[in-house]
Amino acid sequence: MDQPAKTSLRKLPSVDEVTRAAGAAVLLEQYGRQALVAAVRDVLAAARTTESTPAIDAILHEADARLAAKSRSKLKPVFNLTGTVVHTNLGRALVAEAAIEAATAAMRNAVALEFDLGEGHRGDRDDLIRDLLCELTGAEDATVVNNNAAAVLLVLNTLAKGKQAIVSRGELIEIGGAFRMPEIMSRAGAKLVEIGTTNRTHKKDYAGAIGPKTGLILKVHTSNYRIEGFTKEVGARELTALAREKKVSLVNDLGSGTLIDLSRYGLTHEPTVKEAIAEGADLVTFSGDKLLGGPQAGFIVGRKDLIALVKKNPMKRALRIDKIRLAALEATLQLYRDPGRLAQKMPTLRLLARPQKDIEATARRLLSDVAAKLGDAFAVAVVPCDSQIGSGALPMEKVASAGLAIRPRTVKGAGRVLTSLSNAMRRLPTPVVGRIEDNALVLDLRCLEDEAAFLANLAALDLRHALD
Ligand SMILES: *Cc1c(COP(=O)(O)O)cnc(C)c1O
Repeated sequence: MDQPAKTSLRKLPSVDEVTRAAGAAVLLEQYGRQALVAAVRDVLAAARTTESTPAIDAILHEADARLAAKSRSKLKPVFNLTGTVVHTNLGRALVAEAAIEAATAAMRNAVALEFDLGEGHRGDRDDLIRDLLCELTGAEDATVVNNNAAAVLLVLNTLAKGKQAIVSRGELIEIGGAFRMPEIMSRAGAKLVEIGTTNRTHKKDYAGAIGPKTGLILKVHTSNYRIEGFTKEVGARELTALAREKKVSLVNDLGSGTLIDLSRYGLTHEPTVKEAIAEGADLVTFSGDKLLGGPQAGFIVGRKDLIALVKKNPMKRALRIDKIRLAALEATLQLYRDPGRLAQKMPTLRLLARPQKDIEATARRLLSDVAAKLGDAFAVAVVPCDSQIGSGALPMEKVASAGLAIRPRTVKGAGRVLTSLSNAMRRLPTPVVGRIEDNALVLDLRCLEDEAAFLANLAALDLRHALD
């Protein structure tokens, strides 16, 4: 057994021989010496374990493949055909071109981030967007941090550290990704006081809980679920009156938060930040990358004295956002000054507002090409389906959409074929992510705008494994 292995070992070239070969020059140029040497070592080691003796060209070819695979970005653009427009796992909102341009300029240049150009002294990065936020929400003052989870954490830590935070049991939400209201409270140093029951909380429950140790009342928009039936919640306006009377702060965590009335796009009205401020909340928190359509960020808007306290909290420094996102946010917020053309410029709103007819037309145009590519083993049909907004906004809201349903023609092993098909779709150069529903792979086409790119990408679909 030892003898053949030794003979083949002798035939393997050295790393040096491989990297000095003529064919190595182009790889050296592309990846650099260190990376090429490491890749060649790996290929030679693999050859030793399999007792094979590849030629130098074959070794370089394999090294090239390994280097190419390694240098490919892991943060791949995908076709989001899941039907969930603001998909947390797929990066939430698509930002407007204006925001992309602003972020790019900020990355490339030194910018007046914390520098008062008028006075020539140190400035405040919040100044970049404070006026815009106040104008769009009617709030007195505003600040911004890493995301809305950070905004909630910071507000609780500022106003309720060592004190009690009163929350209705019907609003003790888990957002996902380990953001659970009770845990955030304890990390913020606040003591949670739960009141009411899961389905019903009354004004008297709040009133009975308020005492000398109360730091704040927290109202949480139950953005990702809905309790129906025998329910009672105390509205923000009523809570405001109580909070004022008892001299405690009322904080409203809106979650997604929106700056415009979504009913203008045929969607159900979701409470706007302006409404939450008008109802009297002392502070309102909301996300930048949900319905707002910007980069990841968390806003805190409201009373000037409370915002000043929040900004003095040393945690603010740990949660602040960088110039790139501030630039993108400023450009995004600017667009809200012209609500009439918002959907034109804001991809997330444009996709949400897309009429079903339009999406169905896309499906019809793609049908024959997709069916031809998939071949006889699959039946492809244009179907109506339901999109959703995602990220917890309007959880019960179904937005009428259309797509392609792809079904294996075989009955035996159909489930396995379907799984293989969706795997193959995810392995495309630009992965296609759909959803499996009723024994079909459904591609909801609401978020597909570039049909030509979709078809060009689909040409690379490899179904051999799916049909084995
Ligand atoms: C989404 C959400 C959060 C968390 O916001 P992120 O921006 O994801 O950190 C907090 N509260 C509510 C009600 C939410 O819907």
